[in-house]
Amino acid sequence: MTHSANISVSGLNKTFGNTQVLKDISLEIAPGERVVVIGPSGTGKSTLLRMLNFLDRPDSGKIRMGDLTVTAEKASRTDILALRQRTSFVFQNYALFANKTARENITEALVTVKGQSKADARARADAILAETGLTDKADAYPAALSGGQQQRVGIGRALALDADLMLLDEPTSALDPEWVGEVLDLMRRVAEKQQTMLIVTHEMQFAREIADRIIFMDGGHIVEQGPPSSILENPQDPRTQAFLRRVI
Ligand code: ADP
Ligand code: MG
Repeated sequence: MTHSANISVSGLNKTFGNTQVLKDISLEIAPGERVVVIGPSGTGKSTLLRMLNFLDRPDSGKIRMGDLTVTAEKASRTDILALRQRTSFVFQNYALFANKTARENITEALVTVKGQSKADARARADAILAETGLTDKADAYPAALSGGQQQRVGIGRALALDADLMLLDEPTSALDPEWVGEVLDLMRRVAEKQQTMLIVTHEMQFAREIADRIIFMDGGHIVEQGPPSSILENPQDPRTQAFLRRVI
């Protein structure tokens, strides 16, 4: 894999109704870096991730991935497609197509987003299913899979896209506790491939272990960021301190 793109986000703003949910967010992510975002609920974490591939459109700001620059106010369909080809998304609720098998959920993304041929997409999907331990579930529909297996398909689908940036929004929050471990294990394996990842999670032990950097967000701002040792053990801002007292 070649994940060589430097990623930079500058001046990102988003307002829903009367509420400014993201306030002038700027952020740089290095190739292969694993960044974990933490913070209270309602603070704009999901919105930030969704802006980065235009699932929600920013009101203003600029997103740069390698040689691609997308400016919110004048993003064309071509820009948005290019951005989506360089990002992948893992959703809290898996977001699998219920009427497609595990394999088809992966091939569909490769054909529609990456423009791959059906044969290429199938070969890639089968390799990914093997890698995620789901070969025997290739022809199963999501309803026949456990939550853990469904999320492994969700992560496999994102992995198959070979994106410059993988976005993961609370990938274990919807799981019964018995399935959390296998999904965290798969994310560790993805991280070992030097996949650049931006992960929102409340799994603090996992964050400590996997993150190169932790960002604490509150009220639509990045309040502070740094290596896990400084953010988790020596937070400087009272809002970070209060949040960590609640969750750890
Ligand atoms: P977090 O992921 O940190 O919990 P979100 O990004 O989901 O926070 O939401 C931040 C705020 O934006 C919340 O107040 C939420 O209600 C609001 N919000 C998010 N998406 C929408 C939307 N599509 N329409 C209106 N309000 C929204
Ligand atoms: Mg959220």
